[in-house]
Amino acid sequence: MTIIGNPEIGLYTGKLPKGCELCRLGSKLVLFITGECDDNCYYCPVSEDRFGKDKIFANETEIKDLEDVLYEAYRMRALGAGITGGDPILKIDRVVEIISLLKSEFGSNFHIHLYTTGRYVNDDVMKELVNAGLDEIRFHPIRDEYLNAIKIASKYNIDVGIELPSIPNEEDRIIKLIEWAKENNIKFVNLNELELNSRNYLHLNARGFHVSHGITGVKGSFDTAYKIIRRFESDKKIVVHYCSSIYKDLVETRTRFFRMIRYSSKPYEEYTEEGTIIRALIKANGFINEIEEFGEQHNLNQYYVMPRIVNYLLEKYKNNIDEVYIIEEHPDSRRLKISEKLIYTKSQNS
Ligand code: SF4
Repeated sequence: MTIIGNPEIGLYTGKLPKGCELCRLGSKLVLFITGECDDNCYYCPVSEDRFGKDKIFANETEIKDLEDVLYEAYRMRALGAGITGGDPILKIDRVVEIISLLKSEFGSNFHIHLYTTGRYVNDDVMKELVNAGLDEIRFHPIRDEYLNAIKIASKYNIDVGIELPSIPNEEDRIIKLIEWAKENNIKFVNLNELELNSRNYLHLNARGFHVSHGITGVKGSFDTAYKIIRRFESDKKIVVHYCSSIYKDLVETRTRFFRMIRYSSKPYEEYTEEGTIIRALIKANGFINEIEEFGEQHNLNQYYVMPRIVNYLLEKYKNNIDEVYIIEEHPDSRRLKISEKLIYTKSQNS
């Protein structure tokens, strides 16, 4: 076997887990089911506004009603969902309800994976998850006593893996865990590049960890993961996969954004290489019939149109157009505005 991939994005041996394969296509809905967790890892990547709070997010959008998760999944034509948190098992009823809802709406091929420490996973929990239709479970066993949950899960007919950060210089501990996973027929081990964020940076800095890769990747994390991958590159019993912070920070979100643009952008919206949407806002001093045909009326005498036809409209309706703005936004349902630039005013051009 050889090592496949690119160190900037990710490396793996063997076959990528299905959940990761779909994530790489930008087709996985990220479902943050609760911020509650009874563990307290010093490197926890969950942000301040989510950790410990019982909030639900579908991709970047906060959800109040579980049915709204379906809307988000439709917007990106998701082929699956990754359920994360916090520890989702703390809200097992909610998890079971949403798995059942997604499977009944999108069918049994809609692939669902879930992350947990395993702290609360037992036979009853596994039965509920598997009966609801869970396809893949990934454990983050931060204590040895959580390993028993992985053994329990491996008795069920779903894919079982381990996912943990690649902490610099901890290769001996991680290799020991991978050997244990092999003995227990675990399918894969995902190693995430250790990430520094505004919530964990003091704890990481205190341990001598600093960013050196992309915006958040900690120095030495890749080197540790690479040594481990090399060690298992010819091993046929287990797949080891390294996922970089750059992939998570940039590629994953951007790929998902392009998918949303493809399936749910408006005809008058154009897109950028970064996966953002741009449109022009025209403020006129009266109703202009033709502009409406090119786009959409936003407000009284205000229209959204494609940026590329602004010059044509300005030539034709110079006297009627007061201002033109170019707006750049994220394509997801929050429509986070990145910029709004005034590119034309009648007063300065008359
Ligand atoms: S188990 Fe996960 S969510 Fe909980 S503290 Fe650790 S990293 Fe954060």
